[in-house]
Amino acid sequence: MTPLDDFDGLDFEDRMATATFDVAGDAHIVVDGDACEGCTTKACVTVCPASLFVELSSGGVLFNYEQCFECGSCYLVCNEAGAITWRYPEGGKGVIVRRG
Ligand code: SF4
Ligand code: SF4
Repeated sequence: MTPLDDFDGLDFEDRMATATFDVAGDAHIVVDGDACEGCTTKACVTVCPASLFVELSSGGVLFNYEQCFECGSCYLVCNEAGAITWRYPEGGKGVIVRRG
């Protein structure tokens, strides 16, 4: 069990099901498609709990930031320097998770 498995009495999946999104105009994660084409792991596709990365037959990935949980997992596992540029969304934007 991880700390996220029993967060306020809900498991991770139930907690994430309460999430809503106030999408910022500017993407808080930008993916460099050129870097992705040489990536052999496509670890972002596997790790993203929101399934926001889709592997393309061309070798690249398709990414959509709008339903991002801001967990940072993709940034941590990416093995290509500079492929992911991360910053938090502008104030008040992004994921909203109900507490209690
Ligand atoms: S792990 Fe990084 S380099 Fe590989 S496909 Fe994902 S974002 Fe691109
Ligand atoms: S921060 Fe988390 S939810 Fe957002 S794209 Fe990366 S892995 Fe997916």
